[in-house]
Amino acid sequence: MKVFVLALLFGVMALGCSPQHDLGDTAFHIRIDDMVLDQDALVVEESLRQSNGDDLSTRAAGSFSVYSSQPWKNAVLPVVFDKAVPSLRRKQFLEWGEKWFQGTGVKVVARSRESDYLRVTYKNDGCYAQVGARRGQRRSLNLAPACWYEATVQHEIGHALGLMHEHQRPDRDNYIVLDLANVKPDNRFAFDRFATMNESEAYDFLSIMHYDETAFSFNGKRTILVRPQHAKYEGRYGIKAISDGDRRVMAKIYAQEVLSRETGR
Ligand SMILES: [Zn+2]
Repeated sequence: MKVFVLALLFGVMALGCSPQHDLGDTAFHIRIDDMVLDQDALVVEESLRQSNGDDLSTRAAGSFSVYSSQPWKNAVLPVVFDKAVPSLRRKQFLEWGEKWFQGTGVKVVARSRESDYLRVTYKNDGCYAQVGARRGQRRSLNLAPACWYEATVQHEIGHALGLMHEHQRPDRDNYIVLDLANVKPDNRFAFDRFATMNESEAYDFLSIMHYDETAFSFNGKRTILVRPQHAKYEGRYGIKAISDGDRRVMAKIYAQEVLSRETGR
């Protein structure tokens, strides 16, 4: 998965977490690692942080925020490919995306007539995606040529469907220990925490939304360590496959939309 991390880092260096306007719609965006967020859906929750009895010495750099994203209508993610995406890659994207269906009811399909859809691009600037849907908007997801691994593509689709990173959950410090001495200060924002929809289930080391033990390391040393009581997960985490926990979270997020699709209401 090294290629993935390198591609990711390239993207971060190119854009950092600065606002950008090139995603094809009018909302104002902030990019944090490989997640592109709508600024008006992001709330920095200082009060939440304090009420959580937070220990500042163990905190990553940056803020603790709440991000509200929307599920896709009828639990269908309609996809349109930019003309630069090769046909083999289009086929792979839909095949790998289809694997989100089992246990969730979420469909990743080529767009037919849906007004809201996801546009997939092939620019050589990393792997990243807008998080969640937004009524009345086209959303974007980019996969550079180096990003085309099944798990990486499914990870980015996870973002597009509304998931954020498992290792950025507000309760993550009960499960992992970060060693930020091995992360350049400019990259520490990648370990900020977000309250999101992921938390409807127990912390999941095996989540496809969880980074590996050397994520963002500049020296090859470990950055994400397992707390001793969870030692059985040592070496088992890091964007490997869609987990049962991922499916349970996704099923909860999309339960209402699946019902709407099936009942036509
Ligand atoms: Zn990600």
